[in-house]
Amino acid sequence: MKEKMEKETKRKKIGLFGGTFNPVHLGHLRGAEEIREAFRLDEIIFIPSAIPPHKAMEEIIDAKHRLEMVRLAIASNPYFSISDIELSRPGKSYSIDTIRHFREGCADALFFILGGDAFVEIETWKDFQNLFTLCHFIVMARPGFQKTPVASQLPGPLTPAFQYDLETKVWVHLSGCHLYFKEISFLDISSTKVRELIERGDSARYLITPETEAYIHKHGLYRKRG
Ligand code: ATP
Repeated sequence: MKEKMEKETKRKKIGLFGGTFNPVHLGHLRGAEEIREAFRLDEIIFIPSAIPPHKAMEEIIDAKHRLEMVRLAIASNPYFSISDIELSRPGKSYSIDTIRHFREGCADALFFILGGDAFVEIETWKDFQNLFTLCHFIVMARPGFQKTPVASQLPGPLTPAFQYDLETKVWVHLSGCHLYFKEISFLDISSTKVRELIERGDSARYLITPETEAYIHKHGLYRKRG
């Protein structure tokens, strides 16, 4: 009994935060920090994606740069770490494979973190119904988010598999995994905006970390090729 209790208390809560991070910006970092605190996560692992199935290839710079910019941007936060799992896997990167990778042989509680904008497209993700059998999900919602639980918070095909638990205020999947909607500051920053600024020679200061900015300039990233 004592052994079981010790095991349970050692079970960590790990957040998995996937994205293109092209480049990583303060919206990503602030979002992750707010989620970490709200859910008392022990760690958040940033997972840059290799070839995101939903995005146009031309605009996405070399994975090694995106990885390095995340590494630099999170260096001062002891709760943030990075994984190159999606970059080291050949071919397209799918979240379901990534979650399975972290799930394997791991007793920790896993929470996949994504923005509301990404969640509304979840039906287009590979094997999306099964995602919710593997780990908990946290959707970062924009300010003003409709808090009252309504089925329309979920994409149609997901609704039969979820029930709202009034007591804990959480959507519960048939598998027992949870789906949380958490309102965060959601800074009005996007990687697209950062790339556009840099492309036209403007400053992206205060939208990205100074380390990311220095790296971009050092390597001449996102500048229009002559
Ligand atoms: P792009 O402008 O190139 O589409 P992006 O800024 O949306 O990129 P991604 O790398 O695609 O960045 O996002 C990774 C994850 O972070 C997604 O789940 C996305 O919804 C979320 N996200 C994006 N911008 C913000 C933000 N400002 N605050 C919180 N989360 C964000």
